[in-house]
Amino acid sequence: MGADIGVTGLAVMGANLARNLARNGFRVALHNRTVAKTDALINSYGSEGEFVRTETLAELVESLERPRRVLIMVKAGGPVDAVIDELTPLLDAGDIIIDAGNSFYEETRRREADLRQKGLHFVGVGVSGGEEGALNGPSIMPGGSQESYQSLGPMLEKIAASYNGEPCCAWVGTDGAGHYVKMVHNGIEYADMQVIGEAYDLMRSLAGIEPAQQAKVFREWNTTDLASYLIEITSEVLEQEDELTGRPLVDVIVDAAGQKGTGRWTAISGLEVGSAVTTIAESVFARSISSQRELRKITRDVFPAGVNQAVSAQEFYGTKESQQDFVEDIRKALYASKLVSYAQGFDMLTAAGAEYGWSLDMRTIASLWRAGCIIRADLLDTIMRAYETEGETPANLLLAPEFTEAISECLPAWRRVVAAAATYGVPAPVFSSSLAYYDSLRADRLPAALTQGLRDYFGAHTYQRIDKPGTFHTRWSEDRTETEV
Ligand code: NDP
Repeated sequence: MGADIGVTGLAVMGANLARNLARNGFRVALHNRTVAKTDALINSYGSEGEFVRTETLAELVESLERPRRVLIMVKAGGPVDAVIDELTPLLDAGDIIIDAGNSFYEETRRREADLRQKGLHFVGVGVSGGEEGALNGPSIMPGGSQESYQSLGPMLEKIAASYNGEPCCAWVGTDGAGHYVKMVHNGIEYADMQVIGEAYDLMRSLAGIEPAQQAKVFREWNTTDLASYLIEITSEVLEQEDELTGRPLVDVIVDAAGQKGTGRWTAISGLEVGSAVTTIAESVFARSISSQRELRKITRDVFPAGVNQAVSAQEFYGTKESQQDFVEDIRKALYASKLVSYAQGFDMLTAAGAEYGWSLDMRTIASLWRAGCIIRADLLDTIMRAYETEGETPANLLLAPEFTEAISECLPAWRRVVAAAATYGVPAPVFSSSLAYYDSLRADRLPAALTQGLRDYFGAHTYQRIDKPGTFHTRWSEDRTETEV
């Protein structure tokens, strides 16, 4: 009997996915460029299920049932192409190559088109949940052809996380759609973490609430609309004491946030498809600024922190009563900013769906993120409800009744928090930009009219009028009369 699936690339993610498949009753053929990793996996976990050891890709392919399913879990980028190039001549029409790594969706689109020409299915699969998820049940976002999903779907659904008995795995759309949806998930994850960071910073800088005390606040918040994995683990990180110094661990961690690129890709793609994903972009930039440590140091010397302002803030927000009010304001600002961030993420998915011809189902996408992945949160149920009513899809999530109500409820607090951050000089880029996004969407008139006037002045870029159709230009350098062009 041949193996059900082959996995090549047995570093932490591939090894854990292979084990997850085997634990779920699938016969899994194993391959890794460096054979020692294959042996290490079999030695340590061989008893977990049925594994077939192979040393070459040719052996891996030979060991598989047809149509063959080969899952690649190697380093994203060139290595994926290298493995595909070696695999392709070994496979037959109808076989399926699966890339479950963090590949850039444009590369997935290219690979899918190339392999389709050769009669092969190429399925880019977004997998979220890190090492632990890969082993115990990740959130899985497969793209590729619908036909390939018939063969692959039942297997992926079995190893995925489940939420109320439903698997967090469903076909999301053709070619690169799976990797795109995963990318947006990661972009939202950046924003989720940034708003948590801003809430922490404001509580600490303005109200003097220490990390251990904040751990309790976050734990309490986890019983509200904010309930989510990231809020839950925030309390654990904040209450952690450093073994070496006895100080809060968060105080001895260097304040420079790393990034692997998916947030940047999301921001770039937002610009490309014309969707204003300001919260995600601000979150990426916030990490970039945090990493500019040398520049931050020099700047701090030139513009020292406003000590007096900070002191008066503590006087204002530090008293017990005002502290409680302020904490509640921050919770609301966090929630409203999070709502904007998800509204933007889904807006981007809508724009990308139109751009790339994917019929993305927003309700399904929200459902996939409810378990197994980092952004799992109660809010996803709210989002699913927003997309539930057939024929009445909101143009933007902020317009869904539950969102509208929540935003209105949070608005005064949100404005107070952004004002306090600006007044006392505490950076809150996502709290501020999400509020600006909301205000921009609801503004009666935007200064874009002036921008158009300026563009017409220096570049004859023309403008439209509010009172009649057509395209116009003012002869700025001549007699300043208007012409229709
Ligand atoms: P790595 O990204 O560290 O990649 C290591 C694996 O790639 C090894 O098996 C290595 O083989 C193989 N490899 C590298 N170059 C080549 C090549 N030219 N030819 C063949 N094989 C090669 O492994 P991870 O397990 O950390 O991640 C795998 C994928 O999963 C990546 O795309 C990563 O971004 C993604 N990922 C996803 C996460 C998630 O939460 N979804 C979390 C972490 C990663 P060898 O042993 O021979 O060196």
